[in-house]
Amino acid sequence: MDGEDGAVLTLAVLYPDLLGTYGDGGNATVLSARARARGLDVDVVEVTIGSSLPPASLYLLGGGEDGPQRLACDLLAEGGFVDRVGEGAHVFAVCAGLQILGTAFSIEGDASYPGLGLVDAVTTRGTSRSVGDVATLVEGRMLVGFENHGGVTVLGPGLEALGDVLVGRGNDGRVDGYRASRLWATYAHGPVLAQNPWLADEILGALIGRELAPWPSVADRLYAERCATLSIRRPAAARTGDRH
Ligand code: GLN
Repeated sequence: MDGEDGAVLTLAVLYPDLLGTYGDGGNATVLSARARARGLDVDVVEVTIGSSLPPASLYLLGGGEDGPQRLACDLLAEGGFVDRVGEGAHVFAVCAGLQILGTAFSIEGDASYPGLGLVDAVTTRGTSRSVGDVATLVEGRMLVGFENHGGVTVLGPGLEALGDVLVGRGNDGRVDGYRASRLWATYAHGPVLAQNPWLADEILGALIGRELAPWPSVADRLYAERCATLSIRRPAAARTGDRH
């Protein structure tokens, strides 16, 4: 069995040599393992500095420091990444990756740097760094992970957040990430798809154009443990569904 159009699913990890600080490359490992367990044919490629951008079913972007983040943004702009996405590729972006896809983000010294402009999101520097566990309610399900960023991201009116933050800060203390056609973004590291098997399967389902059969694994136990732990830490207002 293979991808939607009979092709192999290609997962391209973008610049792990620049955006690899937080282990987000593990998201591709998780996706490929879960895809292969369902009989799907998957190829994982790493796009490093100096290599050209291949066509892919899904591009994965991770987190990194401000300087490497700026360089990764430049390389993506020069390499035709926006065109690839326009042609139908999917994108999963974490933290620095989330910021790069927006219209602008802040870098060392608080200067604003132009992003790729794929989505209407602007990141400025917060007054304090957001570090620690993060949990977000995404259409009734918890997304768990940890965050470590100085940026605060504000979404434009037409851009939907991924979900409401229950623990931690996410974009701005209220919502985390964003969700657009063929595109998911979150501040959660982990790697987040290892901690949230449901999101890994949602992404794979979007790539092949149908829902996947459940694939129980030890990841379900880790997810249940993280949800139980973080639920205890949810403020009372969030437990009743109100934003805090
Ligand atoms: N450099 C960015 C910030 O601090 C992104 C950090 C990250 O990817 N964890 O906001």
